[in-house]
Amino acid sequence: MTTPKFDHIDFIKQIVSFSPRQHTGEIKTADFLENYLKKRKIDFFVQKFKTTVPVEKKVILKADDKNIPCKSTCFVSGKIPNKENLISSLCKDFQYDEQIGYNINFNPSCKSISCACFYNYPAVAIAGKDVNKILNAKKVEGFVEIKPTTYTARNILVGNKTSPKVICFAHYDSVLTGAWDNASGVSTIMASIIQHPETLENALYVFTANEEMSYDKDPVYWCKGFRAFEEKNLAIIEKAKRIIVVDGVGISPSYWMDKYENLKSTIFFRQLKKFMPKIRRLGASTSKFAQYLYHSELDTIKQIKKKHLIQTCHELHKEISKIE
Ligand SMILES: [Zn+2]
Repeated sequence: MTTPKFDHIDFIKQIVSFSPRQHTGEIKTADFLENYLKKRKIDFFVQKFKTTVPVEKKVILKADDKNIPCKSTCFVSGKIPNKENLISSLCKDFQYDEQIGYNINFNPSCKSISCACFYNYPAVAIAGKDVNKILNAKKVEGFVEIKPTTYTARNILVGNKTSPKVICFAHYDSVLTGAWDNASGVSTIMASIIQHPETLENALYVFTANEEMSYDKDPVYWCKGFRAFEEKNLAIIEKAKRIIVVDGVGISPSYWMDKYENLKSTIFFRQLKKFMPKIRRLGASTSKFAQYLYHSELDTIKQIKKKHLIQTCHELHKEISKIE
């Protein structure tokens, strides 16, 4: 029997077309995934949950009365009164420091606007190339208007949902274009479902919603969709032998990660520490190499190489096949 064909690049392009996959963009992506499965007569189950996300209504930043391109990176509305708090968004120390009160942030590794981090006070992200415009300006001020927006998000489950030996996740929402983060991971698990239908007997695949951010910040603002799954499916998580998360693949060869630091950024279950020994993350370039496109509009299909996706699928299948 030949392996059914699956066109990663075309699939990723379709997912990216719904970007930014937040709120309405995420809902469109869920519709697309459900229709994709229906067309191929693949059974699935939908877990719905309510979530609230920040929706940008208005953002403006002026340096000596000239507009600086920017994007909001915060959960609240308010003013940016001056340029005093110009910070790196890769420095996580500022995230919960409410004393700062506001910021203008940039990702020093990225040429474009990178929404690397979201803050609990008014904050805007600017491109690295515009930092000097801020530094050289006499007067800097800005304003951001955010509307907390509640909707019904959907985790889409395919395979064995009562007693899976392996559970395999990939989040389908995105901050901006998100080809690498994480249309590539969605493509990887969809390929596994289509090309290896025999794995559906022992595996549960979860297209996970609402990974990037929500107002449910306990314990962190990201991974709400994973915790919504955990809440409803604790018994099967406890029984599963292996838990896999595919996040950020296709820009270089994928490899397995199992360190707490690598897991907490991508699968922050409430009981992450307890389940950690059986969780593996399959990803490519979590560190410096990927920061040049992280949560920016540079994260496009152009960065993705088919050969890396095929290697990723191969790694995933090897791991799933190992679990008996
Ligand atoms: Zn991701």
